[in-house]
Amino acid sequence: MLEGIGASPGVAFGHVHLIDRRRATHPKFHIPEQQAALEVQRLLAAVTEARLSLIALKERAPDHSAILDAHLLMMEDPMLLDGARRYITDEKRCAEWALRSAVHDIRGRFDALGDAYFRERRSDVDFVGDRILSAMTNTDSGRIEAAPKDAVVVAHDLSPADTIALSKRKVRAIVTEVGGATSHTAILARALDIPAVLGCAHVTERAGAGDLVIVDGSAGEVVLEPDEALIARYHGVADERALLFAALQREVGQPCVTPDGRRVGLLANIEIPEEIPAALASGAEGVGLYRSEFLYVNRAELPNEQAHAEACGAILDALGDKPATLRTFDIGSDKMAKAVKLPREHNPALGLRACRLGLARPPMLRTQLRGMVRAISARQRGSILLPMIGSVEELVAVREILDQEMHQLTAEGVPVWRGLKVGVMIELPAAVWIADELARYCDFFSVGTNDLIQYSLGIDRGNEQVAHLYQPLHPGVLRALEHAVGAAKRRGIPVSLCGECASDPALAPVLLGLGFDALSMPGQAVPRVRYVLSRFRFDDAKALLAECLRQERARDVEALVTDAVQRAIPQAIALLRDAAHG
Ligand code: PEP
Ligand code: MG
Repeated sequence: MLEGIGASPGVAFGHVHLIDRRRATHPKFHIPEQQAALEVQRLLAAVTEARLSLIALKERAPDHSAILDAHLLMMEDPMLLDGARRYITDEKRCAEWALRSAVHDIRGRFDALGDAYFRERRSDVDFVGDRILSAMTNTDSGRIEAAPKDAVVVAHDLSPADTIALSKRKVRAIVTEVGGATSHTAILARALDIPAVLGCAHVTERAGAGDLVIVDGSAGEVVLEPDEALIARYHGVADERALLFAALQREVGQPCVTPDGRRVGLLANIEIPEEIPAALASGAEGVGLYRSEFLYVNRAELPNEQAHAEACGAILDALGDKPATLRTFDIGSDKMAKAVKLPREHNPALGLRACRLGLARPPMLRTQLRGMVRAISARQRGSILLPMIGSVEELVAVREILDQEMHQLTAEGVPVWRGLKVGVMIELPAAVWIADELARYCDFFSVGTNDLIQYSLGIDRGNEQVAHLYQPLHPGVLRALEHAVGAAKRRGIPVSLCGECASDPALAPVLLGLGFDALSMPGQAVPRVRYVLSRFRFDDAKALLAECLRQERARDVEALVTDAVQRAIPQAIALLRDAAHG
């Protein structure tokens, strides 16, 4: 048995279909001077062909067009094309070699930046390079499309385009050697409902084409050539999951109410508008967090007012009459945007980020706010959320900019909706302790536990070395959450939670006990959280929380919570295995 990261849940049985692109060799030779123009033409023709094949794929899979658009943009990137062209004309390298050299250079720049987000972008550059190369050499995609229906695709890595192409073949599962739970392959595999285990080291060496294989995408397990006993065991696991899944599905669409009548809103976190249909199908009652910074990623220029208005408008339209909370950009730290040139920082997580960046560069913030206000006003729906607010001064300064832009729009004859609500993310410890004051200047709170835990416990949320210290049930975190919710209640404003821990069914009773009005999470997590909350009494949740707050250690709080959940809803622990990857 090999282990990896369970990136898309479900158990699948099938036969290995190996794709090992790394073995493909490409020509590497110097060309005579007079052939350079011809080689450049070959390069450009291959780019055109690769673009056409991506456009064709995009038409077949419109839900994933954002990722494919990003790849299309990369294909036009001067750094890639001019770089390759220079290798041909200056160094007389053949087109394949030149392209690979340019890809190598771009990768090197991403390497130098070295955080998780750029690691993902690095593989995007590889995929784009691969597609152009295969257009030049006429190889590759035939092999992917040749996967039979019962195939478990085993590869070193897959591009999002590969994953979509594979979905057309309805393969049983995906196993790759690289990639994590947040990679494009993982996100798409989940969206396509294909079990996937990523980061499974050496699997392409260990698996033989045609071998029987079991993939447990929930537990992150890959079993090669299983015996009868193992096959029976995994069939048992699959049956259990199928029953639980059917139970979850039956409840999709019902409001989330505890047995003693406490209503909790369940909302979706989204990065791009295209995620909304799937989130609604999972029973999300709206969007609790739109991470608008994703509009900046992969763009050479800053998005203009119209681009913001269109993206926000698309979200509001896709939601019908359901609510949407649109967050202003949270660029900086681990989320970088090409068009935003930031100074080199030793500690980006403690640097220019989100609203601080907006206040340092007001035109950028003004443009986005105008786009948001236009989209919201035209529909009289939607609210604006401000990330990383750490003081009353910052909040007041951003609100002043917003007020000025609303007046300006009115002066320009654009109707402005006065019902627009403005919320604050509570994700800095300082914001927790001045929550009563912040509440005077805003209409709602959204608690961002991803950052609140990072900054409370002093651990980098993307650093695997300290991942074990990332504890939502740390007494210091629990008390901060209690204080923030208490401030909202004292001031009579709604408070929701939008960090990843909202998607963990085993934590749901604690969040219920804290009194959050709504939880916002990746859409696919909504059914399992609803399942738990509709079986746990609010009274019991409050009693559980009170006991948790009396503990000294995270370990003791965790034991209390696990015990209470296990007693009330034993299935929640099985749901948890899938939750870890949602
Ligand atoms: C958070 O910090 O919890 C949050 C939801 O925001 P992000 O993950 O985008 O920083
Ligand atoms: Mg945050």
